[in-house]
Amino acid sequence: MPEVDAEKCDNCRKCAHACEFSAIAAIGKAVVTFHDLCAGCGVCAYVCPTGAVEEVELRVGEVTSGHTDSGIDFHQGRLDVGHQRAGPVTTAVKRNIRQGCISILDAPPGTACPMQEAVDDSDFCILVTEPTPFGLANLREAADTSRRLGVPCGIIINRDRRTWDRIDRYAEQEGLEVLLRVPEEREIAEAYSRGETLADARPEWRDDLVAMYDRVAELVATQPSSTS
Ligand code: SF4
Ligand code: SF4
Repeated sequence: MPEVDAEKCDNCRKCAHACEFSAIAAIGKAVVTFHDLCAGCGVCAYVCPTGAVEEVELRVGEVTSGHTDSGIDFHQGRLDVGHQRAGPVTTAVKRNIRQGCISILDAPPGTACPMQEAVDDSDFCILVTEPTPFGLANLREAADTSRRLGVPCGIIINRDRRTWDRIDRYAEQEGLEVLLRVPEEREIAEAYSRGETLADARPEWRDDLVAMYDRVAELVATQPSSTS
């Protein structure tokens, strides 16, 4: 986070003009920062001609890590209560990812900075939606965001009832693939509420999940810019 050395500042206001988040402002002869608004991008320090902006550490959350018995790494980012910008926490989580292994990032819902930070630089984005008007509206925004980031995406329809086809129509129109349909079943919902995975609750779904993984790998491999 930026901190301004008033001795070095010549009040040129370049930092305030450059900040897209209005997190640094020149008020009279003083330059003030608003850490709650700051995304920690470092642009203000970059544009400051006198070196008056220093980047200092500010705790906004924590990252915890662990491993499952089967060797899967698990990293969790938690934003401290009272802070609004989760982007730096997401960035910190991503720094923990081991290079060269398959990584699944569970992004928060919506299309705000934390989602974009999680999706950026990914090989593929799986958008999980539900067959409702609200789900479709969110899906449209998320698919647009993913594409703007240059990340190809596909869809999982959760709680699928097969009675509402607007998600399918949207997918067809946009050339997006529906990778999996998880039906609306009480047994599955109860398993989720106990913290069980779909594969644990319904072992007969394992083949479908593996098939989805294979399909995503295939789609990633056929992307023009893919390096995987
Ligand atoms: S680090 Fe980025 S977001 Fe924060 S004040 Fe500077 S320019 Fe604005
Ligand atoms: S860019 Fe640097 S010198 Fe200019 S107002 Fe901001 S802190 Fe001061």
